Amino acid sequence: MAKTRTTRKTLDSYTIKGSNKSIKPGDCVLMRPSDSSKLSYVAKVEKLESDAKGSNVKIHIQWYYRPEESIGGRRQFHGTKELFLSDHHDVQSADTIEGKCTVHTFKSYTKLDSVGNDDYFCRFEYNSSTGAFNPDRVAVYCKCEMPYNPDDLMVQCDGCTDWFHPACIDMTPEDAKQIEHFFCQNCSSEEQKLLQNSHATSRHTDVKVGTKRRRR
Ligand SMILES: [Zn+2]
Ligand SMILES: [Zn+2]
Repeated sequence: MAKTRTTRKTLDSYTIKGSNKSIKPGDCVLMRPSDSSKLSYVAKVEKLESDAKGSNVKIHIQWYYRPEESIGGRRQFHGTKELFLSDHHDVQSADTIEGKCTVHTFKSYTKLDSVGNDDYFCRFEYNSSTGAFNPDRVAVYCKCEMPYNPDDLMVQCDGCTDWFHPACIDMTPEDAKQIEHFFCQNCSSEEQKLLQNSHATSRHTDVKVGTKRRRR
């Protein structure tokens, strides 16, 4: 019946030192880097445990990697608050927990009204030994065929519903914010073809239609 000294207790929750914030398995936390000039590390809490007396709390975590920590490095389509859920598990002292944060799904992140300091998003799982991502393909947008970076302003074409970077369609960000209806070059020429078919007499060549037109 006697318990040995090495018995560890699993905790349901833990209050972060110096704060009143409580964390539990499944939550995401910011971990203090050993080099204070670096950004905090982000991890998902898997398990919390203490010694039999309830002290010496250890946190079992799954690390999130920032794009620059991945083998391929940061790419243009990576958001500033983007993280990859890695296969790298670890056990750390709970003293290194700096605070709590939220890692949103890509979809819910793009729907946030405002992005706070502690808001992040994750759309890829990352294999830290091979550098592979899951999913290994994502939808690409615009003429430049880039995956969506939620930090970038984009305008949607009313025709094909593809999204475009203002710079890629010769539009200023100011115009892009104000435009109510936009047709990309392809859709403009489709529209033009339809017009030509219904009005066989009118022939236009290489005319951009609708790209900056506003309709009410
Ligand atoms: Zn583009
Ligand atoms: Zn279009």
